Amino acid sequence: MAALGFAGMATESRDVKKDEPRDKVACPYCRCEDTERVALFGSVLLTSQYYCRHCHSAFEVVKG
Ligand SMILES: [Zn+2]
Repeated sequence: MAALGFAGMATESRDVKKDEPRDKVACPYCRCEDTERVALFGSVLLTSQYYCRHCHSAFEVVKG
């Protein structure tokens, strides 16, 4: 559940780009909005996992 292969994300970056551009989430660590959503399976727990491309940190956002 914790280990996520972010290194493998590069091949899917194009698909992520088209996914709701208005859904911007600021990184809780550096406040940068250069983040992208990853790991759709997190929706089961009403959370979305994001990855900050600025400080390379992963974080979760609770939805609703
Ligand atoms: Zn960050």
